[in-house]
Amino acid sequence: MAPATPQPEILAAFEAAKGFMPVGEGLALYAAAAEAGALGLPLLEVGTYCGRSTILLADAAREAGTVAVTVDHHRGSEEQQPGWDYHDPETVDPEVGLMDTLPTFRRTLHKAGLEEYVVAVVGRSPQVAKVWGGKAGLVFIDGGHTDEHATNDYEGWAPHVAEGGLLVIHDVFPDPVDEWTGQAPYRIYLRALASGAFTEVSATDSLRVLRRTGPGI
Ligand code: SAH
Ligand code: MG
Repeated sequence: MAPATPQPEILAAFEAAKGFMPVGEGLALYAAAAEAGALGLPLLEVGTYCGRSTILLADAAREAGTVAVTVDHHRGSEEQQPGWDYHDPETVDPEVGLMDTLPTFRRTLHKAGLEEYVVAVVGRSPQVAKVWGGKAGLVFIDGGHTDEHATNDYEGWAPHVAEGGLLVIHDVFPDPVDEWTGQAPYRIYLRALASGAFTEVSATDSLRVLRRTGPGI
């Protein structure tokens, strides 16, 4: 079966949204989300930012009759802070002087017509993972890129991937030459494979899709 692809208006909304996901990886994420949606469980994202990738998970969730849950403290990762390469001054809340990507995220979803298929959780990934009770059909890890954050995301969320569900990791760079914010996502990808609980399904640029095929985490 050919991989599921988003409708042109969804793809257009994705391309118009602020964020850090190229189209090719977005299509791979969409295909994974459409497949995992068949499990009828929530599709969970760590790292909302302004909602670019959330659009794809939300549309796949809508098609499958489930929801996308997206987690972010909305204060930005290290490399997105003022003075760093990935900083966008438009994301700063002038009143408190800190980044706040929540308003832009809400506009993104509204414009895409997908608000009702998304549950947005504002909080730190490890704290949310601790209180998250159920299984997820898909977990997409696209949060902080330090080893501390990536490890917390893996340890907090990988156990919640349902049997047969998918674990998707962004910014996996096996060659240090390609790294832009380090290889922590690559290290958790290796750890997922070494756990014996996950089997690789596909690789599209820096996006890796793994299936939960066993216990072990
Ligand atoms: N998926 C987005 C990009 C995410 S950027 C897109 O498609 O464009 C990474 C995001 O992770 C940032 O918004 C940052 O605030 C968030 N983040 C980093 N560390 C986090 C943590 N420990 N808990 C929650 N969110 C975190
Ligand atoms: Mg990313």
